[in-house]
Amino acid sequence: MEGAKTKALCPECEREMNCKVEKEYINNRSFPVNDEFSIDVCDTLAVLICQGCGVGFFRKNSWHSEAYDETTTEIFPPCDPVAHSPKFQSYEIVEFSLDSGADMFLYGLYLEISSALNAGLTKLAAMGIRTLADGLCIKLVGEQPEGISANLKKTFEEKHISQSEFELFSRVLEIGNSSAHRMFSPALDDVRLCLEAAERLMHHVYIAPKNLQKLNAVQTPPNTRKKRTP
Ligand SMILES: [Zn+2]
Repeated sequence: MEGAKTKALCPECEREMNCKVEKEYINNRSFPVNDEFSIDVCDTLAVLICQGCGVGFFRKNSWHSEAYDETTTEIFPPCDPVAHSPKFQSYEIVEFSLDSGADMFLYGLYLEISSALNAGLTKLAAMGIRTLADGLCIKLVGEQPEGISANLKKTFEEKHISQSEFELFSRVLEIGNSSAHRMFSPALDDVRLCLEAAERLMHHVYIAPKNLQKLNAVQTPPNTRKKRTP
């Protein structure tokens, strides 16, 4: 039962510990063999929090009626979060540094956000992403006196971003705002999505214009095909 106490082998403490049932899901199934008998199966999946070390882990208890007295218990140690590796590697810092100190600040912030995310610091990362996204908007349209939402709105109005990007970045700002001002703890996966959105904006601001310059310099054969007459 969620909220209840249970004993379990904590993978961190490596011994039987008092744990709190954080989440639980009970999956009962019954397979009829004939009119009289059935085989019953029950899996109990639980996220437990060790009351000693505070680590959260997954326990799966499996039982079936063919071995009536046995319950098998599997304990899964917590997985490390998948590390976020910054998309824009150090050689690109040189390109970032061309324009202004603000660019170096934003790039440094971006690297700090990646580190925070890798350490599971979702609130810090979300606040940082909000500042990063805002800084990129200011880079595109200048700072609006009405503040952060106005900067994003202006970025949309000047057609730097599409309607769907505007909606996406509005959510990114809101998640960062709530983390900074309303004691909100965003989930790791959601903050990853926020960072992915901010990376798209970084690409738009820094990488795409330079790529355009390079591609514009490519000599392509002139188009000699005659225009069709309507
Ligand atoms: Zn423990």
